[in-house]
Amino acid sequence: MNDAVHDEDLETVSGGPAAAQGDPHMAEGAGGEVVLLLADISGYTRFMLANRTEMAHGQGIITDLLQAVIRQLEIPMEVHKFEGDAVFITAEFGGAQTWEETGRLIGRKLHAFIEAFDAALLNLARSNACHCGACDNMAKLTLKVIAHKGIALRYRIGRFEELSGADVILVHRLLKNSVPGTKYLLVTEAAFGFLRLGDDFERAVERYDDVGEIPVRYKLLAPLHGLSEHRLHRMNLGDSLRKMRYGARTLFTRKR
Ligand SMILES: [Zn+2]
Repeated sequence: MNDAVHDEDLETVSGGPAAAQGDPHMAEGAGGEVVLLLADISGYTRFMLANRTEMAHGQGIITDLLQAVIRQLEIPMEVHKFEGDAVFITAEFGGAQTWEETGRLIGRKLHAFIEAFDAALLNLARSNACHCGACDNMAKLTLKVIAHKGIALRYRIGRFEELSGADVILVHRLLKNSVPGTKYLLVTEAAFGFLRLGDDFERAVERYDDVGEIPVRYKLLAPLHGLSEHRLHRMNLGDSLRKMRYGARTLFTRKR
């Protein structure tokens, strides 16, 4: 791919013209590599079928949830773009860390994204008194995170920056997959070792007409405890938490 890079508007991520001139990053083996992440909210299309008020509330909820996710980003991770119900995050070599440290950081962040999403969803549920379709369906929203490592070509059209390449296509294809759930981490074999993830992932192979067979690992995540549709808008979550704490204290006292 580097052979094709001559135009100044085209550069391979982390490995463009600067790399050919002895960029120190290249000496550490970063190559033209980039980590590509998609944090995608499931349950969003339901909102689009609703009326105008519901669409507005649904979009507000999605925006709040995605903002909670991107607050977890640390250099060199950055938002490349928002894609409807998803945020496309990239990480190139940069900052103070080595590329290996960056891999570990991103690996930890995959779980942090889910936790931040869940916390924001609980917060929204607690403060929301609306009974429109979008708000009532809030509890059905879940986050999945897809991670891949590969090569991407960065190019500009005027003031706009884009990423292209087979790996960018691949990570988007993985949004449709055979994972039996809606809340999970899905990581390609190409990224798995780099992200230093644990051994609690299942192995699978996804098949696509254009990108072929992709070995992956995935980890299903438990639904957010106590967040059922009914409870969301019928109960006072604060009261419930107090009762739970009281119950735990009582149990503790009895044991003593
Ligand atoms: Zn509403």
